[in-house]
Amino acid sequence: MWVFSNEIDTAATPLIALAPGALARLHSHRDAFMGYMYVNPHALICGRILSRDVAQPVDARLLERRLRGALALRDRLIPAPYYRWVFGESDQLPGLVLDRYGDVVVGQIATAGMDALKEEVTAAVRRVLDPVTLFWKNDSGARELEGLPKVAEAAFGEVPALLRAREGTLTFSVPPLTSQKTGWFYDQTGNRARLGRYVSPGARVLDVCSYAGGWAVTALSQGAGSARCVDSSQAALECAEVNAEANGVKIDVTRADAFDALRALAESGERYDIVILDPPAFIKRKKDIPQGQAAYRKLNQLALGVLAEEGLLVSCSCSYHLGAGELEAAIQAAARHTGRFVQILEAGGQSLDHPVHPAIPETRYLKAFFCRVTREVG
Ligand code: SAH
Repeated sequence: MWVFSNEIDTAATPLIALAPGALARLHSHRDAFMGYMYVNPHALICGRILSRDVAQPVDARLLERRLRGALALRDRLIPAPYYRWVFGESDQLPGLVLDRYGDVVVGQIATAGMDALKEEVTAAVRRVLDPVTLFWKNDSGARELEGLPKVAEAAFGEVPALLRAREGTLTFSVPPLTSQKTGWFYDQTGNRARLGRYVSPGARVLDVCSYAGGWAVTALSQGAGSARCVDSSQAALECAEVNAEANGVKIDVTRADAFDALRALAESGERYDIVILDPPAFIKRKKDIPQGQAAYRKLNQLALGVLAEEGLLVSCSCSYHLGAGELEAAIQAAARHTGRFVQILEAGGQSLDHPVHPAIPETRYLKAFFCRVTREVG
């Protein structure tokens, strides 16, 4: 679905003749039609294909079809209207993310081409779902690469003071304007449900990089006895406390850098039966790989330092540039360094509402390893 700028015969079709976001037809060197795409002559990925059917150009009908198809898939698989409705390339809508919070849809546009289609997408959202509110939260870092400004604005309806997300029987609220990403991390929904079988009654849980308390509150609802959330954001922790209360459980919070907090907890002798590591992407670009790998190794090592004699480590990474094998290697290096023995019991990925496009490895980004950790003996 992607066309790189060095794949274009710029003598025949100079890219600079095209405006960022313009629609174009893609032809092979033998002049065979390959697809309808939008372009950005200033980006490395200079074209993204939306349709391969010569009879179906990029128009209102195409957008509506794509949105309907994506919605039908989620509605079939997910019992309540809280999910990622559109996951970009994986739903053949490159550069577009739509997350659904019941009657409220929060959207993010990452490319000039999708930005140029914003009004058409808005109209299609109205025709397909007609939610009360569509809020464009266009503040992602990817926009800079495409020469787009960061703006947050309602396309229609009012932006509520709180967005509500549901996972099973639990409800979580986050303020839409100051939240991370669109508000909620639906990509972890499946993994949080997976945690249930590992939570023994009364377990002590540490939720590192907790954001609004998704993992901690889930673990408590699954039978854990206590949970502490660690995050560097005061706003995130306040949200986590509200979310705990709303679900009838109680959490403790520590506002600190994750690395510092883990060191301090280890020193004070605190031990946990379950430690969840769900940090932000330490590796955003290829050039960050060496430092990023070291950071994952260090964080996992520090986590093992606060795990009980026998415990569960849930180690996640949302960095596409850190492969599953590399996260396993980071976990193993951490184990060797601390004299612990690790068994990976289960590996989770992103939830069903984040499908993977088999031609675009970047669409598979989330890893979650459920690891039993014991002492290395013998
Ligand atoms: N676990 C969350 C998602 C985590 S997003 C969930 O399931 O919903 C990453 C979180 O890490 C953000 O809330 C961010 O504030 C926090 N964070 C980023 N850098 C951090 C650091 N150095 N120490 C602690 N928290 C950090």
